[in-house]
Amino acid sequence: MIDGKTRTCGLIGNPVEHTMSPAIHNTLATRRGHNLVYVPFLVEEGQVDTAVKGAYALNVLGMNVTVPYKSEVTKSLVEVDELAAQIGAVNTLVRVADGYKGYNTDMLGLYRAMLEDGVQIEGEEIVLLGAGGAARAVAYLCASKGAVKVYMLNRTLEKAQEVAAEVNQAVGKEIIVPMLLTDYEKLPDKQFLAIQGTSVGLAPHDDEVVIADEAFYQKIHTGYDLIYRPFNTRFMQLVKEAGGEAYNGLKMLLYQGIIAYELWNEVEITKEDAQAAYEKMKEAMGL
Ligand code: NAP
Repeated sequence: MIDGKTRTCGLIGNPVEHTMSPAIHNTLATRRGHNLVYVPFLVEEGQVDTAVKGAYALNVLGMNVTVPYKSEVTKSLVEVDELAAQIGAVNTLVRVADGYKGYNTDMLGLYRAMLEDGVQIEGEEIVLLGAGGAARAVAYLCASKGAVKVYMLNRTLEKAQEVAAEVNQAVGKEIIVPMLLTDYEKLPDKQFLAIQGTSVGLAPHDDEVVIADEAFYQKIHTGYDLIYRPFNTRFMQLVKEAGGEAYNGLKMLLYQGIIAYELWNEVEITKEDAQAAYEKMKEAMGL
């Protein structure tokens, strides 16, 4: 029941109508008996700083930040966690003295999701499709969690080159190898973990895929698509048709939320609570 002691958390972004974050956080709050509500806040362009300062003044406990404000929001924070600063994107604000501290739980969320699915990064040779905001964070994750090589394939080669130079410098090793997307045939003749980090195949373009050639999928033992709408992407279908294992990005979304919830409330979420939130997300997706 909402009463005088109810704490508020929320999401700022534009658009926010299709968010599944309320399903995650309100489920966790109910299960944990926390007097907390989580709501979406639509923030118009140019209003991010006002929104963050206003939220602090209104005693809002914590916020998530989504597209298109993950970089811009850093200017309105009193502190940014080292990892988030390295990635250059913040998706979680935690209330501290005088303002909010920014974190990036997207990348750690993906890592936790992969651990749960039994997908390993350490010692792997990885094909990473894309060089946008999400792929950039994944490149940091792979480089920092012991990947041997990451072939970063992107439509715009310059963007992959930029990310590779930055990440390689940060980790002090030549791990990220930038390549043009159309050069996938030049990949070494090996078996790879492939992480799909482009926006190709996102609903309503369910039938689209960034590489359609079946020969490419013969080289993939496991495919991880960051997209979760549709639940079974064309990329995942092609991986499975070639005999590999495939996962979507819904658990990444779940765990970025869980890590944020843990930061706000200083608790640890159990597997059972995580599973309950996951079921609510699927329900919200109409599955
Ligand atoms: P972004 O910064 O806009 O990057 C888009 C990427 O897709 C770029 O690498 C871009 O290549 C590539 N791309 C777009 N259209 C293409 C096309 N027609 N052919 C080939 N490549 C194309 O987006 P983002 O924020 O990184 O997000 C990428 C995806 O990850 C989205 O679908 C998003 O939903 C998903 N995501 C999921 C989660 C989760 O929690 N599961 C979290 C974050 C993001 P160029 O550089 O050549 O333009």
